Amino acid sequence: MHLEKSSAQAAVVPILPTILFTIPLSIPYLLLLRFATSKFLLPSTRTKISKFFASILILPPIIFLSTFDTAPNTNRYRFMILWPWEEQKLVQISKENVETVIGSEALVPSDDPRTQMFEQICHRLWKQGVIEKYKNNVMIKEPIVYLIDNEELLDGVSYPCSAITLTTCWLRLLDYDENLIAAIIAHEIAHIIQNHASEFYGMSFIIKVMTRLGEMFGNLIPGLNKEGIKRRPLHFLQQHSQMLEREADLLGQEIMARAGYDPAKAIELWELMVSLEETNKSSMEQLQIPKSSHDEEGRGIRHSSDITFKYHPLKEHRVKYLTENLLQVQHLYVNYKKID
Ligand SMILES: [Zn+2]
Repeated sequence: MHLEKSSAQAAVVPILPTILFTIPLSIPYLLLLRFATSKFLLPSTRTKISKFFASILILPPIIFLSTFDTAPNTNRYRFMILWPWEEQKLVQISKENVETVIGSEALVPSDDPRTQMFEQICHRLWKQGVIEKYKNNVMIKEPIVYLIDNEELLDGVSYPCSAITLTTCWLRLLDYDENLIAAIIAHEIAHIIQNHASEFYGMSFIIKVMTRLGEMFGNLIPGLNKEGIKRRPLHFLQQHSQMLEREADLLGQEIMARAGYDPAKAIELWELMVSLEETNKSSMEQLQIPKSSHDEEGRGIRHSSDITFKYHPLKEHRVKYLTENLLQVQHLYVNYKKID
C-alpha cells in the first residue's frame, strides 16, 4: 500500500514554531532599523523601541513553555507543538486519507472471518485493555481496523482519526496466531491513544524549519561542516521517533496483558521479525516494503518490515526492553486469566 501525496502535504502549518522562528530572524533587521534611525529619534522614543525589543525577546521562551505537555497514560514529558484546532485539522486530514485508502485498495469484506477476527481482537483490546484502565484519559472513539487484501506487502498504519489499516501479509507472517495479531493491533492502539501522530508532526515541522535555516545560514559561514548541520536534526528526529515506538511497544504490551492476551507474544513477534530478517533474508526482500515507515505529514504512523529504516528501534533492542517490561505486566495477564 502506498499512500499518495495528496492535499495532506503541509496542510497544517503550526502557528507556534512559525512565530518562534520569525522572531529571532527579525531581530537583526529591527536592530539595524533602530541604529539607522537613532539620530533622528527622541531619546524617549528610542527607549520605547528598546523596550519593545526586550518584550519580543521574552516571547520565544513563553511560547516554548506553552507547548510543554505530559503524554497521557505514561506521564512522559513532551512538547506538543500543535494547538488543539491544528490537531483537529490533522485528524480531519487523516480521515480523508483513510477514505482514500479504503476506496482505492482491495479491502477484505466485513463478513470475512479474517476481518471478523481482527475486529474482535481490536474490540477486546480496546474495551478491556484501554477503557477499563484509562477511561479518564481516553477521549478517542474505538479504533476501526481495515484489513487490506495484499499478501505481498507488509504494511500497517495507525491514523489519528482512530483507524488502523493492516495488510493480509501479516496473517501469513504470523500464521493466524491470535496473540501475535493482538500484539500488532495493541501497538497501533497505543500510538493512537498517545496522540503520537500529532506529536511527531509538530517535531518534524520544527526539524524541517531548522534544516532549512541551517542550509540558509550554513552557506554564510565559511569552513562549516554543512553535512553535519544537515544530519543532526534528522538524527534527532529519528531518536524521537524511536522513543515513540518504544512507548507504543511498552504500552501496547500492557494493553495486551490487561485484555488477556499473552504479553510474551509481543517479544515473540519481534523475535520472529529478527529471525525472518536473519535466516530468510531473501524471502523478506521479495516482500514489498513501503518507502517510509513514519509519515511526517501527519497522516499516520506506519509499520512495515523495518529493514530499511532507522525511525524504529533495532529489533534486538525491542526484544530486550519488552522482556524487561514483561515482568511488570505479567501479573495483569495472570490475574485476567483467573477472572476469565
Ligand atoms: Zn509503531
